[in-house]
Order: sequence, then structure tokens, then C-alpha cells
Amino acid sequence: MYHIHAYSGSTAQAETALPASVQFKIPPNLFHRFATDPRASIHPHPRASILIHVNAQELAALPGRAALIAHLRDSLPHLDPNDSATSPFRGGRTTALAAMHAIQPEAYARTRNFLTGKVTHLSPYLRHGVLTLSEVRDHALTIVHNPAHAEKFINELAWRDYWQRIYFEIGDGIWQDREAPKTGLSPTHFRSDLPEAVTTGTTTLGCIDAFSQELTATGYLHNHARMWFAAYLTHWLRIRWQAGAYWFLQHLLDGDPASNNLSWQWVASTFSTKPYLFNRENLERYTGGVHCRSCVHASAKTCPFDATYEELTDRLFPRVTSNLAPSSPPAPYSRPGHQPDLFRTPTPVPTGAPLLWIHTDSLNPAAPIFATCPDAPALFVWDTTASTPTPAPSSPAPSISLKRAIFIAECLQQMPPQLEIRTGDPASELLAAAHATQASHIIAQRTPDPRLQAIARTLQTHLSIVWIDPPPFVTANRGFDLKRFSRYWQRAQSSAMQPTRSQP
Ligand SMILES: Cc1cc2nc3c(=O)[nH]c(=O)nc-3n(C[C@H](O)[C@H](O)[C@H](O)COP(=O)(O)OP(=O)(O)OC[C@H]3O[C@@H](n4cnc5c(N)ncnc54)[C@H](O)[C@@H]3O)c2cc1C
Repeated sequence: MYHIHAYSGSTAQAETALPASVQFKIPPNLFHRFATDPRASIHPHPRASILIHVNAQELAALPGRAALIAHLRDSLPHLDPNDSATSPFRGGRTTALAAMHAIQPEAYARTRNFLTGKVTHLSPYLRHGVLTLSEVRDHALTIVHNPAHAEKFINELAWRDYWQRIYFEIGDGIWQDREAPKTGLSPTHFRSDLPEAVTTGTTTLGCIDAFSQELTATGYLHNHARMWFAAYLTHWLRIRWQAGAYWFLQHLLDGDPASNNLSWQWVASTFSTKPYLFNRENLERYTGGVHCRSCVHASAKTCPFDATYEELTDRLFPRVTSNLAPSSPPAPYSRPGHQPDLFRTPTPVPTGAPLLWIHTDSLNPAAPIFATCPDAPALFVWDTTASTPTPAPSSPAPSISLKRAIFIAECLQQMPPQLEIRTGDPASELLAAAHATQASHIIAQRTPDPRLQAIARTLQTHLSIVWIDPPPFVTANRGFDLKRFSRYWQRAQSSAMQPTRSQP
């Protein structure tokens, strides 16, 4: 059943003879008729004004993916009606645990760079908090004979922790160049728009088109494919990394502003010591040459990647000396050892009844937030006030892709049954729910996401928020130096290789 807020004078109210401005329940099929009824006179626009309330149990009871998609199209007015790609990847804690139990850390270390290698596909679950880094690490340590055999895998998990720590520190600053590029090029050499041939996978370059089509169809790309794609866009096409990052965030099921933008910057050399380049030999090695076999550019000998690294460097960065010296000294990023351990700053819990705020970083039914207050009312709000993950400078706001919405909805289906799901302005909805349930404070999982933090600031003008942390992946008494991953890893390594129960 849906709860509908109808406005005075609406057709729905007239038909059901209810008093003005009330909440009432109608079944999903009736809702659809109501929403598409030309006589419905809901102010100012039917889809924008109707707030669909459903709880996790009701969402889970929808009969299959098609019904879920119909529900999402009804509930989320900002979904692009022309976007119909659905991903084979399924959301939810059950699928996440199955994927975690399938990991093979030793095989991963040997094969992870190959497109057919034993990578885990855990990223959409880690990104949405369905799994935590620490539980995945703990599991990896239990299935290897020697902890050293899990180290490569744990080191890759650590990249996520590293990027998240930077995100906590700089927020939307991840959209700005962290350092001067080391390419000798200036912003005037770059354009800001993505060519349609890139986004539709019709450049005629076999590899690039395959990656583009895989991304838009499935919401997943192997790490190596992401690196090649980002390098092609930034170095060969000279498109600003922000434009590519923005497009990736729209489509990736694991779309995470920190991991994504900072990886783009790593490729672009605004957060690394040199630009990342690849050539055809490298691509053929890790793809088995599958894309080159049918590529017109391979047979015509016009492949732009078919060259040595020296030749490519001369061609792509003509004003740069052979050792790719920085165009200006990199700005210091943060002082070593001074980063507070943001993941471990506890907030005191006030007395009184709480409301649990579940957001897109905390879609885990086993999260500490539910253990803290198992029976507390809980609310998730699809944010229709701003449809982009974070504001990208000079780009129009994209809609969340259908496949990402499905993934999130499938996670919601497996949340505790009392979780209420609404659509609209998160701050208003949370305040209304807190008022209705007489909550004295809100409990939420801590997040680096500036948009969620802005919502929290609005809430805090009315009632207090208690932040709960997931178990830490690593701890360091001296704090972390985030200037480079290698420096972070120097301090994080010994802690990262310990199971959670042994963390100080
Ligand atoms: C241009 C570019 C954009 C990227 N955008 C994102 C993004 O939006 N979201 C995202 O989660 N990752 C992103 N990555 C990092 C990485 O590509 C993905 O995390 C990884 O490919 C996900 O697949 P997997 O789960 O099979 O990874 P696996 O190789 O199986 O790794 C296991 C887990 O470790 C973490 N991990 C591994 N490598 C990295 C890395 N380099 N950076 C951060 N975490 C890592 C991920 O959580 C991943 O799920 C990006 C990388 C590049 C080069």
C-alpha cells in the first residue's frame, strides 16, 4: 500500500470522499491509475506533488523486478523516461554476502589486472554501506592460510578507505584539481563537454566503445577499463576529467564521488606524480586482444594507442620534457600526522526516543545503527531536491540512472521491515517523521558526503543528530598522512592486516 499526501480539492480526495489535506493509503495499481488520471488536479504537478510512502516490507512484497521498476518510475519523477538500462547486478545484503563469500584473495592477487581476472564486484555494496570494508577484510583473513596471501586484496580495499578519508577532509573539493597537472598542459587545452560518440559507444574504437557500452548497460567496469577510458578521455581527447567523472557517477552502480573523482585525478596527474598512459600492447595483454580483433583501427593501422610510451608521451604532451616534470611544484596537501581520526569521534547519545535516518551510505540491515535501537522508527528519503551526487562545476545536473535506482531499491527491500521510504526533500521529510514519532533526536551513520552533511545541518537547527560509525577498517595512533596512498599505507598497513576484533 502507498500512503499519499493529497492536496485539498484533488480528484483522489473527491473520489475517496476524504477530508482535505490528509494522508491515506491506496494499493500500487490504483496509485498508477490515479497518477495518470487526466482529471487529477493536484497542485502544482501530479508527479511532483505526490509523495509516495512505502515501507521496506511493502517494497519487498512487490512481485519481481518489473513491479519494482514500475514503482520506481511512479515514485521518482526525476528518472529519465528514456533510460531503460537495467543491470544484471542485484542490490541487497543477501547478494552482497554471496559475493563476499566468493572472493579468492590469492587468485585475485595473481589475476586482478586482467579483464577476466578474479575481481570481486563488491564495489556497489561497499559504496552503499551494504558491506563494510572491515567485514570484507575479516572474511578474507579467515579464508587464507597465510595473512600475507590476502595482502594485495586488503591493500586494494585500503584504496577505498584512503579516498574516503580525503573526502571527509575536503568534501566538494574533490571536484577541484588537487595539484597542478604534470602534463605541461593548461586548462585552456581542454574542453568540458563529452562527445556523443563517447557516451553512446560509437567512436569506432573497439575497446573504448565496448567500455562505454558496458558502463551504460551494466553500471560496472573493471578497474583497468576505467583507467584506460579515463586516460583516453583526458589525454587523447583532452576533455576535462570532471566531465568524464560526472558521466561515470551517473552510470556506475558503485558511483562514489571520492573513489571516482580522485581516481580520475590520479589518471589526469592532478593527484599523482605523472599522467597515467597506456598503449595497445598493454591493453591487448590484459584484455586478451578481444577488442582489437574486430576493431577497424587495428586492421587499418590507425589505432591511436599503437605506439611506445615514449612516442605517446611526445604526441600527447608535446611541451613536456621526457621525464614529465611538473609544470609547477605540487601544493602541499595536508600536514603529515595531523589528520584527526574522523572515523572514531563518538557523539554522546541523548536520552529520549530516536528516529533512525538511513541514507545512501548506510543500506545495511546488519549495521550498528539498527543494533543500537532495534525498534526505533527509521526513514529513508529519495532525494528529489537535487538529483546529482555532488555538484560538478559547470555541468547540468543529471538524473540518477534507472539501474542505480534499482540497485538502491533492492538494497532497501532487504532493510528491516519498519524502514519507511519516502520521496521528496530529505530534511523536511525527516523533520516531519521526527515530529510524527515524537523523536527527540536523529541517529545516522557518519558520512563524508557533503550533500548529506548539508541535510544534517538543516536538521540540527531543530534537533540533535548522533553519528554512528561502522567498525573502523584501520586505526593509527599518529593519524594518517593523506598526501599519497603510499604514505597512508605505511601507517595503515599493520592495522589493516589485523581482523577487527584485534584493532586497538
Ligand atoms: C577512473 C576511475 C573511476 C573509479 N570510480 C570508482 C567509483 O565511482 N566507485 C568505486 O567504488 N571505485 C571506483 N574506482 C576504483 C575501482 O575501479 C573500483 O573500486 C573497482 O574496479 C570495483 O570493482 P571490484 O569490486 O570488482 O574491485 P576489486 O578489484 O575486486 O576490489 C575490491 C574492492 O576494493 C576497493 N577498490 C579496489 N580498487 C580500488 C581503487 N583503485 N579505488 C578505490 N577502491 C578500490 C573497492 O571497494 C572494490 O570493491 C574507479 C577507478 C578509476 C580508475
